[in-house]
Amino acid sequence: MINCRKEVEGLRPYIPGKSIDEVKQEYNLDTIVKLASNENPYGCSEMAKNAIKKYLEEPGLYPDGNCTDLRNKLAQKFNLDSNQFIFGAGSDEVISMITKTYVSEGSEVITCAPTFPQYKAGTVQLGGKIIEVPLTKDYRFDLQGIIDQITDQTKIIFVANPNNPTGTIITADEQLAFIKQIPKDIIIVMDEAYVEYIKDATYPDSIPLLAQYENMMVLRTFSKMYGLASLRIGFGMGHPELIEKINRVRNPFNVSTAAQVAAVASLEDSSFVDRTYEANVESKTYTYQRCESLGLGYIKSYANFVMIDFNKPSDEMFLALQSKGYIVRPGHALGMPGYQRVSLGTKEQMKGFFDTVEAILGA
Ligand code: PMP
Repeated sequence: MINCRKEVEGLRPYIPGKSIDEVKQEYNLDTIVKLASNENPYGCSEMAKNAIKKYLEEPGLYPDGNCTDLRNKLAQKFNLDSNQFIFGAGSDEVISMITKTYVSEGSEVITCAPTFPQYKAGTVQLGGKIIEVPLTKDYRFDLQGIIDQITDQTKIIFVANPNNPTGTIITADEQLAFIKQIPKDIIIVMDEAYVEYIKDATYPDSIPLLAQYENMMVLRTFSKMYGLASLRIGFGMGHPELIEKINRVRNPFNVSTAAQVAAVASLEDSSFVDRTYEANVESKTYTYQRCESLGLGYIKSYANFVMIDFNKPSDEMFLALQSKGYIVRPGHALGMPGYQRVSLGTKEQMKGFFDTVEAILGA
C-alpha cells in the first residue's frame, strides 16, 4: 500500500444519509420526506430556475473565476468593496480555503461542540489541532470558554451563529464583547449560513463590524434560504488582505456558471425569501406545538431545523422514522444521542411527520 499523509490517515470520509431513492427501494415506499439536510422545502426562486435554463445553452465555457456579477451585486447589497469577497462551491469550500490558507502543523483552531463538522475536518487535514469547547448548558456557543482556550498557537476561531445542530444564537452584544477580547492575529470566522431565517432584534448585524475588525470574516451561503444547495455556492466576506491571501489557494474555476447566474437572480427575488421566511416560522410554531402536546423536549431554534429530544436511542427512532419514509439526522451522529435534528419542511410535511412520530411512540 502507498502511504498517504499522516493527517489523512486518521480521517474518515463523510458519510451522508441514504438517498431518497435508496430509502424508497429499501422500504418499498412511494414518497419520502427528507428532513435531514436543512434544505429549502419550497425549492428556489423561479427567477433562478430561468437563469439556469439560459446558461444551459452554453455549458462548454469555463465559468467566470472572479464571479464578477455576483461580487458586484453583493458589494452593493452589503455596502462593501468588491475585493472583500471570496466565493466557493458552498461555504464548505470557503471554510476549507480558510484553513488551507492559515492552518499549518501545530496551529490551533478553536470552536465549540457539537457544531458544524467542517471546521474540524478542515483543520485536522492540514495538521492543525482542533480545540472543541462544549456548548453552554443552554446549547449555545460558549464564548468565554473559547477565550479561555486561546494560546500563542491559536490561528482561527469558528463560531456558527446560529449553531448547527442546536439552532441557538449568540446576541449582538455577546458577539461584540467577544470580538473585542480576541487578539488581532487570530481570525474570527462568523458562519451565518442561516441568517436569512432570523428577524430577531438581538441577532448581530455582523457586516458593518468588518470595517473595524480586520481579523473578522463572515460566511454566507445560497444553499439554505435561497434553495440552491445542489449548485454549490457560498461566500466569505472580510478585509481585502485576508481575502487576497485566501484567493491564492482557490481553484481557478471553483464556482459553476449555473451557480453564479442562479445566485444573482435569487438576490433579485425578495418575495421568494419573504414567503420562505413566513412559511418557516409557521412550520416552526407548529413543530413546537406538536412537540409540546407529545411531551417531547426541543431546543428553541433560530434556523430552519429543530433539535427534538425523543429521549430514546436516536438510532432506534431514526430507523423507525426512516421505515415510514421520513429521513432526519440522528442525534448520535451529531454528538447528541437521544435527539433527532429535524429540518423544517412544509406544514403539511410536518403534520405527516408528527402523525408518524405519534404512531411510533404509541406503538
Ligand atoms: N455552515 C453551517 C453552519 C452549515 O450548517 C452548513 C450546511 N449544513 C454549511 C456551513 C455549508 O453549507 P454549504 O456548503 O452548502 O454552503
